[in-house]
Amino acid sequence: MSPRRVSVLLPYPFAGPLDYALAEGAQAAPGTLVVVPLGHRDVVGVVWDAEPDAGLPAHKLRRVTEALAWPAMRADLRRLVDWIAGYTLAPAGEVLAMALRPFVLEPEAPVRGWALGEAAAKPGAARAKVLAALAAGPLPARELATVASAAVIRGLAQVGALLPVDLPPPAPTLPDPEHAGPALSPVQREAADALTGEAFSVTLLDGVTGSGKTEVYFEAVAAALRRGRQALVLLPEIALSAQWLERFERRFGVAPAIWHSELGARRRRETWRRVERGEAPAVVGARSALFLPFPELGLVVVDEEHETAFKQEEGVIYHARDMAIVRARLCGAPAVLVSATPSLETMHNVQTGRYRRVSLPARHGGAVMPTVAAIDLRATPPERGKFLAPPLVEAVSTTLGKGEQAMLFLNRRGYAPLTLCRHCGHRFACPNCTAWLVEHRARGVLQCHHCGHTIPPPATCPACGAADTLAPVGPGIERITEEVRERWPQARLLVMASDTLAGPAAAAQAARAVAAREVDLIIGTQIVAKGWHFPHLTLVGVVDADLGLGGVDLRSAERTFQLLHQVGGRAGRAEAPGRVLLQTWEPEHRVMRALLSGDFDAFMASEAAERQGGHWPPYGRLVALIVSAGTQAAADALAGALGRTAPRGPGITVLGPAPAPFALLRGRHRRRLLLRTRRDIAPQKLLRAWLAQVKPRGDARIEVDVDPVSFL
Ligand code: ADP
Ligand code: ZN
Repeated sequence: MSPRRVSVLLPYPFAGPLDYALAEGAQAAPGTLVVVPLGHRDVVGVVWDAEPDAGLPAHKLRRVTEALAWPAMRADLRRLVDWIAGYTLAPAGEVLAMALRPFVLEPEAPVRGWALGEAAAKPGAARAKVLAALAAGPLPARELATVASAAVIRGLAQVGALLPVDLPPPAPTLPDPEHAGPALSPVQREAADALTGEAFSVTLLDGVTGSGKTEVYFEAVAAALRRGRQALVLLPEIALSAQWLERFERRFGVAPAIWHSELGARRRRETWRRVERGEAPAVVGARSALFLPFPELGLVVVDEEHETAFKQEEGVIYHARDMAIVRARLCGAPAVLVSATPSLETMHNVQTGRYRRVSLPARHGGAVMPTVAAIDLRATPPERGKFLAPPLVEAVSTTLGKGEQAMLFLNRRGYAPLTLCRHCGHRFACPNCTAWLVEHRARGVLQCHHCGHTIPPPATCPACGAADTLAPVGPGIERITEEVRERWPQARLLVMASDTLAGPAAAAQAARAVAAREVDLIIGTQIVAKGWHFPHLTLVGVVDADLGLGGVDLRSAERTFQLLHQVGGRAGRAEAPGRVLLQTWEPEHRVMRALLSGDFDAFMASEAAERQGGHWPPYGRLVALIVSAGTQAAADALAGALGRTAPRGPGITVLGPAPAPFALLRGRHRRRLLLRTRRDIAPQKLLRAWLAQVKPRGDARIEVDVDPVSFL
């Protein structure tokens, strides 16, 4: 008799499951975690739902080594893995690797504790206290250490009056939906009620910055908790979300479970298990939290849904916002997308009736929206070698004079983005990337922001040999900081950039210092845009509002609007009204005009019109193919082969191949092609047929990016 067969998906880049034989009488339902041989190793995989291939001869099948006693992978997660693989064309096994982390299979470290032993101890006050503390049952060692000194405990253990025991992990304190609910305004109440459904739906929750969107979706979280369901909140930069975490704790009495890749394996293992046991009712996380094994998922919130940080650009290339909706659908849970500046994709889904929209029209508690004005750099340029124009300098001085806080925003780290020889024109470029080296003066280096290539600042020009001719061109925030120190030497500065605020603790500390008015002036990159609530901040100056408008990005206008609107939204969130000043060379650009008028819907309508004409997303579908290889010739050969075999037909356009804007990145030569289809044509089938004809050789690779966000 031939053995029973199962298909097993392994967390390695296999396109689909492999077949194995089950031992006589063994059972392995789909989802079961099993150990199977792969080459000369034993690996852990998941019994998949696919029918095994009956045609494969029995003697070729290897046997499942062992079925593990771990909880099975849930059906909705298996479907999510299949769905993402099908949509992104990533190998299913590679997607599985995000949902099956090897470290979660290690046993949890037990909690060391003490219990009463058989032997009697000599009398004594300290000893009696220990024995009394343990009378009701064993205690964790850490807890007993607060009752008596280590010497006393050791003494009791030596005579056998105490016995070491391993205790199960303590039950966590759960968030309490009734802990400290706010008094919602009638509009907020109505919005909150609209979010508390029990079936799958997608709702856009929008409203100006400071209108109470967070408070409102906290009510949806509370509603899910009351029903005994779990809630997942995705944030774009969880490591910088200290203020959000504090707010959650104020609202629900305890911190939520946190999930992101910067946490250590132990923390993640604990969280994973708690989620799996249903002991983590609320989880806040980055993209990868989507793959946690929630047994009772009842709500998925994506905060700042327009953020491009939700797009994973390496490995499995997927958009966590979109996959969050898939996960919600597979679990029959409502999904809420939150933003003050929703993406055009989401707005389009609202207009076509796929998503609902709930809007909060005004700032909470009478705070008004900041006024926005442009500083025309053609009319009032900064002094030579400076970057703050006179009107901005005056506004900062006035603000500081009133004892209020100001913020200067420039989305560029370092001192200067380019170093140039004034004598021969030589520019310092990265040898591995199509990019200039950025000067970081504080660290005394020139560095590539893409590959990390670093050189010491040269004394002479390597091209012409001249000395003292090297000049920084353009500002980064270090250079703005220098200018600020000169102009306002008394002001207490805080620099907020990803390389100065390392980690959540530093971010939390910075936010506290600002709230406590220990800071007068904040200078920051785009991380200052992220959800901060600084009640005493009344002036935001954008040093270079045009930055980001050039370039090849389909969404550069939309993104610039979103970013600057978010940054401006930090101003005037409490009683004192806020002001935003935009330094620009193009005050009549439609993005500047939209920022000045604050008419978001009109801007999005103009953006929609621009894209609709060319069938660009969301009015058409887009897939990028990025070809890369160690040599130009290999990259060109592969890109050329793709160009020759490109799909054709009505509603299908292939652009390229063309050198990528980063024609060289980390030492690899890159070419790009774009497949654009009408919205009613799913590109995945076309892509599979296309890619089947072209086999990369040597070190050449094709990366498939469905719904690309980056065009570099
Ligand atoms: P958004 O998420 O739309 O930017 P928030 O939820 O952060 O807005 O609210 C802005 C500020 O107003 C926060 O400090 C918040 O605590 C406060 N706030 C909003 N709604 C209420 C309310 N109903 N009661 C008390 N404070 C509120
Ligand atoms: Zn580089």
